[in-house]
Amino acid sequence: MGFDGLGRRDMLRGMGVGLVASALPNAALAEALQSGRKLGYAVVGLGSYAVNQIMPRIKDCEFARLTALVSGTPAKLEKYGSEYGIPKTHRYSYADYDRIRDNPDIDLVYVVLPNSMHAEYSIRASQAGKHVLCEKPMANTAAEAEAMIAAAKRADRKLMIGYRCHFEQHNLYVVEQLRAGIVGRPTLITAESGFYAQPGQWRLDRPMSGGGSLMDIGIYSLNAARYLAGEEPIEVSAMESTDKSDPRFKTVEDRIDFQLKFPSGVIANCVSSYSSGHNAFRVTGTKGWIGMEPATPYEGHQLWARQNWKTEQITLPPARKSQWAGQLDELAQAALTGREPKAAGEEGLRDMRLIEAIYRSAREHRAIRLTA
Ligand code: NAD
Repeated sequence: MGFDGLGRRDMLRGMGVGLVASALPNAALAEALQSGRKLGYAVVGLGSYAVNQIMPRIKDCEFARLTALVSGTPAKLEKYGSEYGIPKTHRYSYADYDRIRDNPDIDLVYVVLPNSMHAEYSIRASQAGKHVLCEKPMANTAAEAEAMIAAAKRADRKLMIGYRCHFEQHNLYVVEQLRAGIVGRPTLITAESGFYAQPGQWRLDRPMSGGGSLMDIGIYSLNAARYLAGEEPIEVSAMESTDKSDPRFKTVEDRIDFQLKFPSGVIANCVSSYSSGHNAFRVTGTKGWIGMEPATPYEGHQLWARQNWKTEQITLPPARKSQWAGQLDELAQAALTGREPKAAGEEGLRDMRLIEAIYRSAREHRAIRLTA
């Protein structure tokens, strides 16, 4: 089975129901490409994900470039400032952060801080008149996520959440094939996400992380269940399993497995774990299945489909753009054209509300019916 039939237009389509990014030629984009003017990103928080994954990929963007850095550590500002050619005037501490308002080279702000800081630093960026890309999970609570959306709306700026899988070609391909009926009528989704969390990090400290494996890695299972189903769940039930004698889990959960029921009848079985490795999605239907393992790595996705009693591995040609460049350019294009970005704030808020329902279900030992 090949890549045939999935053209560039299809790759640009959103994964959520009705989330279709326009691929029509746009004057603002054409002008940006022609003039070579790229919108400037300030990266806030120079931790592992920012320096190892995001910053090295910004150079691959068509519509964006790195123009500023924000960090509490002067040595990091010096090191990465020199490496990326960011002048001293464009390097900020957290105390200086609000001064980004006065820097016309900053159009976009990418918040890559611990979860508890997402709301504050996103809201302050909106108030400074900048468009915001904020890492997942959007915030510690749904209430914070709502405040972020309100702040962006008030400032008339865009807000997007760092769901890189929405720009990753294997995930896009699976969604496209599902909508084209490759498995017939989908009946079951399995989505497993987990890794062994090393002790001594903010992820295991509830005030910083907002919760355990679900906030950090289980959110991939949750978000994927929604984009694979192409609809929103109507019921959730969850079970937690945490060894409280393990010092890593003093304040957050280890395992929390959950089920989502969708209006079409599809059920998603989802795994979220901080004590074992999982990285697989599969959708089974009346005519076969399609799945990926690993499904959400930085690279090295593997994809299979089973049809007519035959299982085949599917190999896609190399992506034209990495998932990071796709994501970073998406916000830039939304800012240039005035349209809403894929994975906008509302997408993050949906997950935050579901996360709260999952925790509640586990706590109260009952299924939770969800209202639209
Ligand atoms: P990290 O611990 O490596 O980096 C966090 C950064 O925040 C560090 O530079 C740290 O100095 C800074 N910081 C500022 N104030 C801090 C404080 N009070 N306590 C701790 N750190 C503080 O974390 P990371 O892995 O880079 O994660 C950052 C964000 O990115 C998280 O929200 C995480 O969920 C997200 N993330 C996303 C992906 C993805 O694939 N989309 C992957 C990894 C991380």
